Formats: sequence, structure tokens, C-alpha cells
Amino acid sequence: MLCLPFFRRSSGSHTHSRKHVQEETLPPSYSAVADSPPKTTIFYGRIVHSKSLSKLEILSEAALGVGSHGNIVFLDADVASAQAAQKKYASQGFENATVVVLGNFQFLFPGLIDCHFHAPQWPNNALGMEWPLREWVVHMTDPIEASYSDTSKAERVYSALVPKLLENGTTTVAYNSTIHVPATKILMDQCLKFGQRALIGKLCINHRVTAGNGEGSVEEGLSHSREVVEYAKKIDPEGRLVRGCIQPRGATYVEHEYLRGLGELSRNNGGDIIPVQLHMSEAIPDVEYMKKMYPSAPCYAAVYDAAGLMHSRTVVAHAIHLTPMDISILAASGAGVAHNPTSNTCLTDGECMVRELLEHGVKVGLGTDCSAGYSPSIIEGMRQASNVSRHRSMHFDNDKLKLSLEEIIYLGTMGGARVVGLGDKIGNFEVGKEFDALVVDTGLDDNVNVEGFEGNGRALVAKWVFLGDDRSIRKVFVRGRLVAGKDLKESPNRPVEKI
Ligand SMILES: [Zn+2]
Repeated sequence: MLCLPFFRRSSGSHTHSRKHVQEETLPPSYSAVADSPPKTTIFYGRIVHSKSLSKLEILSEAALGVGSHGNIVFLDADVASAQAAQKKYASQGFENATVVVLGNFQFLFPGLIDCHFHAPQWPNNALGMEWPLREWVVHMTDPIEASYSDTSKAERVYSALVPKLLENGTTTVAYNSTIHVPATKILMDQCLKFGQRALIGKLCINHRVTAGNGEGSVEEGLSHSREVVEYAKKIDPEGRLVRGCIQPRGATYVEHEYLRGLGELSRNNGGDIIPVQLHMSEAIPDVEYMKKMYPSAPCYAAVYDAAGLMHSRTVVAHAIHLTPMDISILAASGAGVAHNPTSNTCLTDGECMVRELLEHGVKVGLGTDCSAGYSPSIIEGMRQASNVSRHRSMHFDNDKLKLSLEEIIYLGTMGGARVVGLGDKIGNFEVGKEFDALVVDTGLDDNVNVEGFEGNGRALVAKWVFLGDDRSIRKVFVRGRLVAGKDLKESPNRPVEKI
């Protein structure tokens, strides 16, 4: 057994000792054994994950076993120690498992899922808040997106962005790219290189084009969309991390013939459906423009539905200004909504009706919508989802609209997994899923103060969700591999395991 000193649970009282934590030495990372035979690992300590929208399971003393292929083999709260778990699961290959014992103020948490991020807009973050949506697109978005015809810029920005999001605990991202095939491929390459799960498509735009941020013929656009989906299959044949998708910016930016072609492409001649990402009902002027562009459509979702773009693999960004028919189509099609609370506030275009969507059985996850949202963090996304819901409760004088701690955590993890079509693989620590996880440490020198609440698991989690940031994320695992985190960043060797 290898007991990693950094994670050793201090004996006796729950004394809050920041200094003690900082002075301990770094453990060998997973990457140190990259060329060795695959190892199994047992995590022992506080384990937190969503069982459902309203049920957050906080196990204060539990063992979680990660198999040699990065899958979760057991989650057991009935073992008294990691050693007891080694014995209990010896026949499943855990007799000599690496043991990671979490400290008093640490917990294991599922990897965060960002259902909506515009990768090319990363340099624009925190700028442009003086404009509403359309003006913001014209002044901020179109010029920077058009600039990614320069592949060296794509290399530069995306190679910095992907590890930055991983450091923030975001293990899966549904990225919007640009209209450019080479830049989109570079984004896919970077996700594979750094070990981040991603859903990525080439952006499709042939209407309301400004700053040259538009495409040529419909045939060319369809062909390019097909090309990037095929490229994802080429670099990651089993879709372990990177998947391609179809990505019309939205009905008001893609003419009808193009939209229908993309719907057909997504349906894939009856084969495996190709996922879709699109924007819908983000602002009232956008909804009004849609009505002019598609005068016979009964609602926004109906435009996409008629084009074949609404199905269980569709990620609908925003979905703010909805009619009852929009909600019915979302629920019936199985499409999921990426709620972008920070962006709702920054653009002041409206607030997503999350409670109503959930009550109608619509899948909902969280997105940062960078750069319309200023923060790249889904921790920030969770607290902003709480804030937006509280503003809605004031506007409508209805306390039921508020989202609870349990609910915002579900949206940032399990809900997001379902929205991006990975609900059976990630999102929580169910046995059989892949191990995407964070080791969170609330005992460090950041804004989280646990004084008086040291033994209270729910308080530690709440404090991290509302006060934490990347400083409290010690380790980030994707498919059982260590890919990021404070420890890895501060390691002199900065090892990165090849996925
Ligand atoms: Zn967006």
C-alpha cells in the first residue's frame, strides 16, 4: 500500500491547520506510473455527489475504488478504512491498490461540466457589458471570431484555454468554435492533448454576417461541418474524450436551407445521431427577428424541430424567452438546456426559467457562456444560478423559484452530464461510470473559512460552492487520470499523463 502523505487524514481533533497542509510534500502523481502496468486506486474520506436533483449524498467516511481503466468499481460507506476496502475488494484487483486518504477538510467531488463555452471569445472575457446581445455580437463577437482564420492565434489561445478550464475543475466542456475548420481542429487537438472531455463543432453562420464572420455556400458549410465531425472520430476513434457536433449559431444566423441540411446531417441517415449545439430564445429582439425570418413557425423550438435539429443529443443554449410550446418541444424531443446564469446577468437579456423547465422534465445543465459571461468557472456558475433564481423569486414573488444548494450542484455536475449526452458515463460517482473528479481542499489559504464548521460536511461543501475557486482544487481527474489541479501546477516536474 502506498499512503500518500499529502492526503493523510490528521488524527484526533479536526483542528484547522492551514500551515500544516501547506508544508506537506507533494505525492507522486498518477503520471509517475504512466508507463507502469495499470494501477487501481482507493480514495478514502469524505465523498460528495448528486444522487438526484434534490438529493446530495455526503459520505463522511467512505471508500471509492477506481479501476485500472479509470472506471468506478465501488463506492462503499461500510468500510472502516482504506485498508479494509483493500481487503474487501481484493478479488477485484484492489489488494495492492494505491491508497489516497483525504484530509479532514478535503472531499472528492464530481468533475464540473460546462455546457456552453465560446472558445474563441476567451480573450474578450469581462469586456463588452455595455451592449445588449445583437450589438455585442457585432462589436465584440464577430470581429474576434473572424480573426481565427489565423491558425497561430487558435494555437495560442486554445493551448492556454483548455488547461485553464481544467485547473478550474471543468472536466467536460461543450465548446462553440468558429466557422474555421483548421481552428476547430486545433481546439479538438488541445482537448485531447490536455485530457479534457469536449463536444466541439464548427460554427455555422450565413445570415446577419458582420466583420466577415460568415461562410460561403451552403454546400461548403455542410461539407466543413462533416469534416470536423470526421476529424474528431479520426483523432479519438472511440470518443473517449472528444466528440464532434453540428453547430448552427442559431436560427437567426443560419438560413433555412442550411438549417435543414444541418438537421439532415445530424440525423446521419438513420445511423448514430450526431450531437447538436445551438442558441435559442436568448433575447426578445432575437425572438422577434426569428418571427420575421420564419413567419409560419409557431415558436422558436418549432423552427429547429422542423429542421430535424431537436433531439436527445441537442444542447440548447439559453432558452430564456419561451412559450409553452417551446417547453413542450424541449421536453418531448429530449433536448437539454444550457443555463448560463452569469451571461443572463451580464447581457441583461432575461433570466432562464429553470424551475419551470425542471418541472416539465427538461434536462438542464450550467454553462459559463464565456465571453458573454465573465467567469470561466462553473463554481461561479453554480452560485450565479442560485442568484438568478433568487432574483426570479423576487420578480414573481414566488419562493419556489429559488434553487437550493443541492439543485445548483446537480446542475453543475449530473444535470450537465445529461445535457451533453454523457449522463450514463459521468456526472456522479455511480459504480460503472468513469472517474471524473476533483479533490477539493477547504483548508487552504483562500476565501473559504471553515472555523466552527470543521466536521460539518454540508457546510464545507456550501462554503466551497459559494466561496471557492481554483485555489481550492488540488487535483483534477478525467477518466481516472490526473490532468490538472493546484498540486500538478505547483509540481516542479509538471508531469502530464498522455491519455
Ligand atoms: Zn453562446
